Amino acid sequence: MLKKKMPVAEPYKIKMVEPLMMSNRDYRKKAIKNAHYNTFLLQSQDVYIDLLTDSGTAAMSEYQWAGMMLGDEAYAGSKNFYVLEEAVQKYYGYEFVLPTHQGRGAEHIISKLLIKPGDYVPGNMYFTTTRAHQELAGGTFVDVIIDEAHDAMSVHPFKGNVDLEKLQSLVDRVGKERVPYLNFQACVNMAGGQPFSLANLKSVSAYCRSQGIKIILDATRCLENAWFIKKKEPGYDCHSIAQILMEICSYTDGCTMSGKKDLLVNIGGFLGLRDSQLYEKACEFGTLFEGLHTYGGMAGRDMEAMARGIEEAVKEEHLDQRIGQVHYLADRIQEYGVPIVLPVGGHAVYIDAAAMLPHLSQDQFPAQSLAAALYVETGVRAMERGVVSAGRDKTSGEHNYPKLELVRLTVPRRVYTNSHMDVVAYGVGECLERRNKISGLNMTFEPENMRFFQARFDLISKKKTEKPQTGVRGQICGNSQSTTNNRYADQIKERLR
Ligand SMILES: *Cc1c(COP(=O)(O)O)cnc(C)c1O
Repeated sequence: MLKKKMPVAEPYKIKMVEPLMMSNRDYRKKAIKNAHYNTFLLQSQDVYIDLLTDSGTAAMSEYQWAGMMLGDEAYAGSKNFYVLEEAVQKYYGYEFVLPTHQGRGAEHIISKLLIKPGDYVPGNMYFTTTRAHQELAGGTFVDVIIDEAHDAMSVHPFKGNVDLEKLQSLVDRVGKERVPYLNFQACVNMAGGQPFSLANLKSVSAYCRSQGIKIILDATRCLENAWFIKKKEPGYDCHSIAQILMEICSYTDGCTMSGKKDLLVNIGGFLGLRDSQLYEKACEFGTLFEGLHTYGGMAGRDMEAMARGIEEAVKEEHLDQRIGQVHYLADRIQEYGVPIVLPVGGHAVYIDAAAMLPHLSQDQFPAQSLAAALYVETGVRAMERGVVSAGRDKTSGEHNYPKLELVRLTVPRRVYTNSHMDVVAYGVGECLERRNKISGLNMTFEPENMRFFQARFDLISKKKTEKPQTGVRGQICGNSQSTTNNRYADQIKERLR
């Protein structure tokens, strides 16, 4: 008889349930029309399975909920702060801990502390808020991630690695005194949740120390990164997640953390530091922008829940199931023959909408169209990561045409079962089956900044004569096949070959 591997199931059982609204296709067709074909504008109660984001959407454990009842809401010196401080010291090794309301609060403080106007801040790709705070402080972000990270077809196991040569050439060009720190992100979000290797971090850290350049870790997804190191990097399979986490942090001078991801809470974050003088300065800014250094924008009960989340999140069986579920979804989707970005990262599956809907030009917003169609099919909410998210070029006013038109299916932690994942995959498969019926979209309303959140769309009617519509900024939101778009059409042909 065939010897089978034991399946990975949830390392918990369910004590409390939250009913989901079941709806039919007609209802959802109306709902997505009312939401102007933008999944961000849907009401959450109209969504069956919500894969918009994994930020702040985790299910807390009974241990965390019990901790919520122990909140000490004193203005100063809350006992929950000391519990949090001890947990960060024990698992991350940073002596000084400043709570913040979420990750961007910590980014704001570290950017203000370390960046002087005219400085350069290298990073392995960027995260939106991280980069915005670096720029607000007068710095210029420089991408030093390896080239493979920008290639969706590359199956490099550590696409989050820093390219040491790119970093060295930046330092040679601008001088080390213009480079206050390297921002090292774990499981790089914009690259699809791709990890770095410890070997890479080690060599980059040795170089940075020789130049007097600090390394600030974006530890938001560091546990998922540690899991990939354990599974993929030679020599680490016998190390525990906690050991790998501690080793990662040991090569860095501090970290910013969003507790809304790895740490299994709905709100919270912190700044971790080793240098006492830097910490004292951080407390001054923290008090101004977040709150006194022993609460920093968090309630006592929320600090307790995050401290307990730190303990739970390093457990290997948790990560096996969490990342295992993302990979389970990826496998099911691939069984339907749907193209996805490989290798699959730690938190999401990215569907290649351009390859799936080759009849739509990039001006017809294929990923936006697919996300809307997926909602109609099964009530699953996903997010567009394509031309809508990429926005417009500030000088030419043209759309930025990214190389990839993706739909992101992001899996919240401990919230859904693999049966839900089966439904998601089925919905994606149905979209593939009906792909020729999926219509492109016209943009009818376009905000100037971060347009993907609030942009509105309408179906391109096949009967109507093609008449360009004017957006709010006086831009033509065209539905015609653009001649500037040949590069994109070629790419699709290439991929379908
Ligand atoms: C979410 C996120 C942040 C920002 O954290 P918030 O809690 O949303 O402010 C920073 N970096 C990465 C990699 C993230 O995923």
